[in-house]
Amino acid sequence: GGGYAWAEPRAGLGLSAPIIRIAHQAAELLASDRLGRVRCCAGPGCGWLFVDASPNRGRRWCSMEGCGNRAKAKRHYRRATGRA
Ligand SMILES: [Zn+2]
Repeated sequence: GGGYAWAEPRAGLGLSAPIIRIAHQAAELLASDRLGRVRCCAGPGCGWLFVDASPNRGRRWCSMEGCGNRAKAKRHYRRATGRA
């Protein structure tokens, strides 16, 4: 209806294929109703963005295995030693 549409290039994309796919998915996210759920990870120096799909919208970390675990370990260390 006069809007825009994605078209896959006919020629092979070679090494740039993954980045084009990521750009495509980012564009879809920016145009979706999930945009309001995009958060930046609270991990120091992380900066990753993620879609908070948790029911209470309280997710803070890009992943519990990475930044979430480091924050948990840091809290435990502070409690156990009294040091920052
Ligand atoms: Zn993170």
